[in-house]
Amino acid sequence: MSNSRRTFAIISHPDAGKTTLTEKLLLQGGAIHLAGQVKARGAARRARSDWMKIEQQRGISVTSSVMTFERTDANGDTVTFNLLDTPGHEDFSEDTYRTLTAVDSAIMVIDAAKGIEPQTRKLFEVCRLRSVPIITFINKVDREGRACFDLLDEVADMLALDVCPMAWPVGMGGLFQGILDLATGKVSRPEGGSKEFLGKVDENVELPADVADELELAQVGYPEFELEAYRAGDLTPVYFGSALKNFGVAELIDAISRYAPPPRPQPTEDGPVDPAEKEVSGFIFKVQANMDPMHRDRIAFMRLASGTFKRGMKLTPSGLGKPIAIHSPIMFFAQDREIADTAEPGDIIGIPNHGTLRVGDTLSEKNKIRFTGLPNFAPEILRRVALKDPTKTKQLRKALDDLSEEGVIQVFYPEIGAQWIIGVVGQLQLEVLISRLEAEYKVEAMLEASPFDTARWLKGSEKALSDFADFNKMNLARDRDGDLVFMARSAWDVSYQQERNPELAFSATKER
Ligand code: GDP
Repeated sequence: MSNSRRTFAIISHPDAGKTTLTEKLLLQGGAIHLAGQVKARGAARRARSDWMKIEQQRGISVTSSVMTFERTDANGDTVTFNLLDTPGHEDFSEDTYRTLTAVDSAIMVIDAAKGIEPQTRKLFEVCRLRSVPIITFINKVDREGRACFDLLDEVADMLALDVCPMAWPVGMGGLFQGILDLATGKVSRPEGGSKEFLGKVDENVELPADVADELELAQVGYPEFELEAYRAGDLTPVYFGSALKNFGVAELIDAISRYAPPPRPQPTEDGPVDPAEKEVSGFIFKVQANMDPMHRDRIAFMRLASGTFKRGMKLTPSGLGKPIAIHSPIMFFAQDREIADTAEPGDIIGIPNHGTLRVGDTLSEKNKIRFTGLPNFAPEILRRVALKDPTKTKQLRKALDDLSEEGVIQVFYPEIGAQWIIGVVGQLQLEVLISRLEAEYKVEAMLEASPFDTARWLKGSEKALSDFADFNKMNLARDRDGDLVFMARSAWDVSYQQERNPELAFSATKER
């Protein structure tokens, strides 16, 4: 049943505790599968292709992964959680953005000593754009942190959200004595030398005087929890806890299961598609190559939007126009890759392919709908690609096409000349590019300064476009799809041309 799915992501600034919390959620959830596990541990996982070394050296996650676990809720119903991992580094905002298009809710992890940090804020803004509801987890209360009121007010003020505390730490740092559940009045207690939560819960606790005072203030100072306000993205329930010591983790799972929305209708060009609709449809939000060094495949990650998907089903990718049979979809469920038989809206399916499927593609039975909201963004960094060995032009083109399909880079082929230009949103993508060119395509390439500063997709009548092209050939290129792009020397250049050519649109994003 589709309403038993909870598809969510964790957003946070690096070091706030996302990885630790993810591990704890999975441990509590039972069945675990880690696809393209971030911060991988163990020899087998270390033996990945070269580009993943960058991730290990820098201690950041370049890949997105899907983790599925199940739990039986209080009514005895099974809830399936699909946790999509978002790359944590700010360089990967584009990739992260796309992943957030595939979730129905998010957990925002905040370090109690630091409050809201830049990356938290950026990711939050992306969630707000799509009205993704947020549950807040203030982490590391086993250490000395900022005052609870301070933290709550910061969330409320900086993010313009109503906050509703659902739990309260009984002391922090050296004084930490547990977490009070505001609904039940029970306190989860630390145990043993490690001061972890191992299941000890006390009722009718005499609270320290300062905590009791705080609570009184908290109860009058904040609005009550309201499901509708949370689901509309106007209110965030706030949990305090410690991922490391296992405090607040069960409560989080419970909150997602109880409050987080089941799969939502997804936007298309002709209005939203309801998950209950019979026709199977979904969209590709991520393509990842070489997840498994033994198979040189690529996996397209599809979020199922409607219908019950069955293995072997034929779906038509919008980018291709003719149906493909999906014989070996991957469900991210068991310890190893497992062939899925069915999937429901909200589930993620990995579809092995050789480059047919691309980020932003819609897959559907009738090929009539197009999901929107998965744009390409104008790159902020442009570089010319030069080959060390000029005979490798063909391999380079293949590699650039592949990697742009994956969304790792964007590629622009100038109308005049053979100086191919690649565009990225963040610096780190350049390193990933060079490293993958060598490791996977045996192409040694160098990146050089480009005369251009940014790019804009051009839209307009054929006549307007060809008139513009007559005068600006030097500044025109085609992207991977053959769409016309204006290569600009500066932001000023863009506004100047826009002013002189009002009949053309210079777009900073492109919907596929
Ligand atoms: P990420 O970068 O957000 O994935 O953060 P990690 O989960 O890797 O955590 C960063 C650091 O904070 C690690 O050293 C963790 O052990 C530590 N950490 C995470 N959660 C807690 C917590 O609840 N309490 C304390 N004291 N440390 C924590």
